[in-house]
Amino acid sequence: MSDCLFCKIAAGEIPADKIYEDERVVVFRDINPKAEVHLLIVPREHIAGLNELESGHDALIAHIMRLIQPLALDQGLESGYRTIINTGKDGGQEVFHLHIHLLGGRDLPGFG
Ligand code: AMP
Ligand code: ZN
Repeated sequence: MSDCLFCKIAAGEIPADKIYEDERVVVFRDINPKAEVHLLIVPREHIAGLNELESGHDALIAHIMRLIQPLALDQGLESGYRTIINTGKDGGQEVFHLHIHLLGGRDLPGFG
């Protein structure tokens, strides 16, 4: 997708504070962090959001989910962290390329 911010970051066309990458995924710091640690876990493949997932993405999604724990430990989040996926306009999604927010550190507000 030629006009997608996260595709451009994944391709290295726009700089980001990347902390991990492999052939399927890039992970970088959110430019506007909402917590002490705020990472975005992003597949290289352009998938607009959760609603666009297909069975062909199953292995990719498993890979991403299993990355979360080592990333959190690497960031010093032994005592816990929060993961968020915003979906669609009413879900607060601003960048329409699937990503998981990984948040941690002190002062995470509660929900509800
Ligand atoms: P969402 O609202 O779930 O779509 O989240 C999009 C996130 O991308 C927000 O938390 C933004 O702060 C973050 N963001 C936007 N532009 C950049 C960028 N150039 N580098 C890193 N994070 C970004
Ligand atoms: Zn994209």
